[in-house]
Amino acid sequence: MDLNESDIFNAVLVFLWVMYAWETYLSSRQRNLYRTVTEVPQELEKVLDAETFEKARLYSLDKSVFGFWHGIWGQIESTLILIYGGMPFLWRFSGQVLEYFGYNSEYEISQSMVFLLGATLFSTITGLPWSLYSTFVIEEKHGFNKQSLGFFLKDMVKKLVVSMALALPITSLLIWIIKVGGDYFFIYAWGFSLAISLILVSVYADYIAPLFDKFTPLPEGELRTGIEKLAASIEFPLKKLYVVDGSKRSSHSNAYFYGFWKNKRIVLFDTLLEDYAKEEDAKKTDESNEESESTKDESTTKTEDTPNDTTEEKPKKKVGCNNEEVLAVLGHELGHWKLNHNLKNLLIGQVNTFLCFAIFGLLMKEQKLYSAFGFDSSPTMIGLIIIFQFIFSPYNEVLSFCMTWLSRRFEFQADAFAKGLKRAEALRSSLIKLNKDNLGFPVADWLFSAWNYSHPPLIERLKALDKTE
Ligand SMILES: [Zn+2]
Repeated sequence: MDLNESDIFNAVLVFLWVMYAWETYLSSRQRNLYRTVTEVPQELEKVLDAETFEKARLYSLDKSVFGFWHGIWGQIESTLILIYGGMPFLWRFSGQVLEYFGYNSEYEISQSMVFLLGATLFSTITGLPWSLYSTFVIEEKHGFNKQSLGFFLKDMVKKLVVSMALALPITSLLIWIIKVGGDYFFIYAWGFSLAISLILVSVYADYIAPLFDKFTPLPEGELRTGIEKLAASIEFPLKKLYVVDGSKRSSHSNAYFYGFWKNKRIVLFDTLLEDYAKEEDAKKTDESNEESESTKDESTTKTEDTPNDTTEEKPKKKVGCNNEEVLAVLGHELGHWKLNHNLKNLLIGQVNTFLCFAIFGLLMKEQKLYSAFGFDSSPTMIGLIIIFQFIFSPYNEVLSFCMTWLSRRFEFQADAFAKGLKRAEALRSSLIKLNKDNLGFPVADWLFSAWNYSHPPLIERLKALDKTE
């Protein structure tokens, strides 16, 4: 098969639109359920009230309609960028910026860094109206948003600075390795990416995550003792146990564990815990009067003393899980650890990276690929984008489908593990509560969920928990 440049370009564009059409079709199937299923499904009648179900339905519908418009915009934007040569334009522009500062275009790595910075700024700016709308209109309307505009913007700039501070040196090194690595560069490139991911995992919790959120050790008490006992019972090497102030951003709830070998930490979102959730309403009213983050801590302690002031308007809704339920959630999380789910994911990821770099090595010298996208030279940075993002995209779609499927399997296994710890009842009620608190819509179209859901739908998880072995 002898493809010319325009065949390659057209194939990429057609595939982009085929995937877009497929995903839009799936979303429309699911959106149709949000519109038509207006009554609590029979399986959940006893545990889910009609009011919550209706709220979840409207929330999901709003998100889905938003996703539809965001999707169209993204698709048109990327098509126009491809057709009108946005990439070669930005590449030339980056060269001009360098020249302006007295460097010539022989400095390929520097040019790549300017390019990367420019592309990131561009996508941040064009994405800004969408994320503003999502946070301050949709999430706000359904009662999940806890951020002020000032916090949102500051957080965004912080994220941008931190991600660039990491991405620029890492990408420069990678390009350098590819350029000097010779025929077997892909082995070094793979080794480098493995080393980087291991380093990031080990510094993330101590140095990166605290830049964004506050981690406090879970205070001594019934819950802490319970978690320590649970960890000991399955030999989980628990070193640290934190609560993170997720409620500062959003009232969606979660829990996870983290870390290497014998040095594991568990992080609970404050929104997961009943005791923390009580303070939540109080916090929000106070926060709206205060812009600066540093004064927030004081306001939290202040409101603890006077919780009655803020309860007038809304009747207090009980959110979060009780201790037994939190333990069941952790039983599930620790199941992921005991069953080596993370290790398996890491292994698959490493094999994949190795394969991709090896194939990249075979393709990176094909000038046709660069010409197809409007380049008359073959800079490594552009090769990485064209090959990893566009040429591999059919493979990426298949891989991501398999990983989503595997993730759902792992979720069932982790649930079964918690069940084995005699925590099925508490897990059941925690799943129901979390689904309510997060306004999850419990009805899923089979095709949409097969393609998109990394976690099985609630009804399926409850069914699996009820099954007797
Ligand atoms: Zn899980």
